[in-house]
Amino acid sequence: LLGPDGNLGLTIFEEITALAGRHGAINLGQGFPDEDGPAEMLDAARAAIAAGANQYAPGQGLPVLRSAVAAHQERFYGLQVDPDTEVIASTGATEAIASALLALTGPGDEVLTFEPFYDSYGAIIGLSGATHTTVSLDAPHFLPADGALEAAFTDRTRVVLVNNPHNPTGTVFPRAVLQQIVDLANKHNAVIVTDEVYEHLTFGPAHIPVATLPGAADRTLTISSAGKTFSVTGWKVGWLTGPAPLVSAVRTVKTFLTYTSGTPFQSAVAVGLGLPDQYFTGAAATLQAKRDVLGAGLQAAGLGVLPSSGTYFVTADTAPLGITDATALARRLPELIGVAAIPVAVFCHDDGARRTRSLLRFAFCKKFDVLEQASERLARLG
Ligand code: PMP
Ligand code: GLN
Repeated sequence: LLGPDGNLGLTIFEEITALAGRHGAINLGQGFPDEDGPAEMLDAARAAIAAGANQYAPGQGLPVLRSAVAAHQERFYGLQVDPDTEVIASTGATEAIASALLALTGPGDEVLTFEPFYDSYGAIIGLSGATHTTVSLDAPHFLPADGALEAAFTDRTRVVLVNNPHNPTGTVFPRAVLQQIVDLANKHNAVIVTDEVYEHLTFGPAHIPVATLPGAADRTLTISSAGKTFSVTGWKVGWLTGPAPLVSAVRTVKTFLTYTSGTPFQSAVAVGLGLPDQYFTGAAATLQAKRDVLGAGLQAAGLGVLPSSGTYFVTADTAPLGITDATALARRLPELIGVAAIPVAVFCHDDGARRTRSLLRFAFCKKFDVLEQASERLARLG
């Protein structure tokens, strides 16, 4: 649970964001957009506050949000979930992930993740007392090597924690890999917890929810969040769907973590989930164009740009510039050139950190002119 340099509780995102602030750098580190979400949602939140929706929501989430989540699953994926027993709202995806892992795992269990892995996964697995095992996703394609998944599953694998589209690599898992995960989860009787917060932010390959695959529905908990899809990362409204017995176990833990989450934001997110299809496709198309602007800037600066098919992020290799320690570089980058990025090694255990030591993750969820300016600054690296 120790953060970089052994600072208890300081995440890499906080550290780099603070450095960016200190040096007036463009913050392409922590993944948050620099423009607000849809006006309908902002108006709905203001209206909910004005209408007095300012006290505790039910622990399970406002009925209007749970119904909107169920309608969203049906509309985009043909998945049927019962809003009363198969959906809970959470304080961001982060709390849903924590509640699921704490509900399902403990000492003696293994939780399998894909490395590099999002930082909260390692911390919560640590809190649960379970053992953290990983399957490596290596550059340039960031997919499991042949045979790696079979080798990673054991009969102690209680949960396989999937993140698709994948942060930090931008990989969107193809159907065959997802099906293999489902088949192995069935073979080893593991629960699949799948973090799909970037479900609408893919650039080409369609997002395939794990829960839609044959053999998955009975053992899959799907987690998402309003933060990324609707550019409201500060609202911290997430949700979890899945079979009633698993959802009920997660809800018990959630009850004692936060009990409930921000009432007016929940009803505003319900409005967002009901926006027309064009909102969702438009958000992905804009983000794809932003990825291309930053990708061109990184390439012009002499970095190796790795493919990103989804999320807010692209990874870049600093090795062509002769750099071997991208973590050290990330700590100096804001002061050196006025741009902040996150080292990929912080999302890894020791072996993975060695394999990714020259990689940086850049967020492109910023205005076009900000990305152009960042590109100009990056050119000073060469
Ligand atoms: N999972 C992944 C993969 C993320 O990138 C993030 C950051 N949005 C989260 C979970 C946390 O989401 P939230 O802010 O909704 O808690
Ligand atoms: N999910 C965001 C990212 O990966 C940041 C979340 C956080 O600050 N913990 O950059």
